[in-house]
Amino acid sequence: MNDPGFSYETRPVRVVFRPGAARTAPPEEADRLGLRRLLVVCGSRGESTARTVARALGDACAGLHTGARMHVPADTAERAVEEARAAGADGIVAVGGGSAIGLGKVIALRTRLPLMAVPSTYSGSEMTPVWGLTEHGVKRTGRDPVVQPRSVVYDPELTLSLPVPLTVTSAVNALAHAVESLYAPDTSPLVSLMAEDGARALTEALPVLAKRPGDLDARGRALYGAWLCGTCLGSTTMGLHHKICHVLGGTFGLPHAETHTVVLPYVLAHNAPAAPGAVAALRRALGARDVPGALWELAGSLGAPRSLAELGLRPSDVGAAADQVAAQPYANPRPVTADEVRAVLGAAYEGRPPSTPEV
Ligand code: NAD
Repeated sequence: MNDPGFSYETRPVRVVFRPGAARTAPPEEADRLGLRRLLVVCGSRGESTARTVARALGDACAGLHTGARMHVPADTAERAVEEARAAGADGIVAVGGGSAIGLGKVIALRTRLPLMAVPSTYSGSEMTPVWGLTEHGVKRTGRDPVVQPRSVVYDPELTLSLPVPLTVTSAVNALAHAVESLYAPDTSPLVSLMAEDGARALTEALPVLAKRPGDLDARGRALYGAWLCGTCLGSTTMGLHHKICHVLGGTFGLPHAETHTVVLPYVLAHNAPAAPGAVAALRRALGARDVPGALWELAGSLGAPRSLAELGLRPSDVGAAADQVAAQPYANPRPVTADEVRAVLGAAYEGRPPSTPEV
C-alpha cells in the first residue's frame, strides 16, 4: 500500500460567524469561558472597532490597549503584558488584523491568560497556535497551544472598511495558506477539503469585492474562506512560499500581505510538477487549468502589485535572499536549491507571467 496515511488534530476553538457579531458575541463568549476582566488589544487604526467590542463587554472590559504594531516588536509586547497585569486581567481579546492578534498571542504566551480574537483581515492568525515576536530586528516564531484563541468572533461587517488593495493582498495571503497546506507533509483529507473550499470562496468573492467593497454577502464569503485557510495554516507545515516570504519580510523589510501576493504564483508554478494533487484541487477551486497563471491574472487585474521590484527589493538582494532561503528551507514537495530559489525570486522580482509546466 502506497498511501502513507495521515494524522489530524482538532483543537478546542469555538467559532461564531455572523454579521454584527462583534457587537453582541464577545460578552457571551467571555461568559462561556468564565472570564470577567478582559483586556481589549488593537492597533491604533483599529481603535474604533475595538471600542465597539469593549462597549459590548461592558463591566467585563478591564481596559483598552491600542499599542499593537506590525510583527510584534518586543518593547510593545512588554508594555502590553505590564498593562494586562496592572489591570488584573483574566483574559485578552485581540481585535484587528494579524498584528493585533499577534500581540494578543504574545500576552497570552507570557501570562498564560486565555485569548479571544475578533479578526478584521483575512490573515488567519486567529486559527493558529503560532506566535511571533521581533527583537533586535529578528522575528522569532514558535508554537504553543496557549496562544491559540479559545473563541473567535468573525463579523463580516468589520471587513467592510478594508480598502480594496488590502482586501486583495490579504485574501491572497490567505490563499497561500490553502496552497501550501495542500502539499504539506502533514496534510490530510480534511485539510484538503478546507483548502479547496477556502480557495474557492476567496477567489469567487474577490472580483465582486473589487467592484463593490460594501457587498456584505461577498465580504462574508471572503471571511469564510479566510477562516478555512487559517485553519489549514494552523494544521499543517508551510513550505517554500512561506520561507521565501519570511526571509523577504524579516531580512529585507518587505510588506507582509503584498509579498505573499507577488510570490505565490511563482512558487506554485515551481512546485506544481511535484504536487499534482494540490494542483487538481486548486483547478477545481479556481475553475482554471493554469492555476499559477490564473492567480497572477486575478491579483494583478484587481490592482495588486506584481513584482518584488515594486515592493522595494533591490536586484542585488535576490541572490542573498535565495541563499538564505536555501540554507534552512522549510519542508517542500520539491527539493530547495539556491539556484532554483534564485530563479523563482528572479521571476517574482520582474513580475513577468509565471511559466507553468504542464502537470
Ligand atoms: P495588520 O494586522 O498589520 O493589518 C494591516 C493594516 O490593515 C493595518 O494598518 C491595520 O490597521 C489595517 N486594518 C486591519 N483591519 C482593517 C479593516 N477592517 N479596515 C481597515 N483597515 C484595517 O496585517 P495583517 O495582514 O492582518 O497581518 C499581518 C501580520 O500577522 C504579520 O505580522 C504576520 O506575520 C502575522 N501573521 C501571523 C500568523 C500566525 O499564525 N501567527 C498568521 C498570519 C499572519
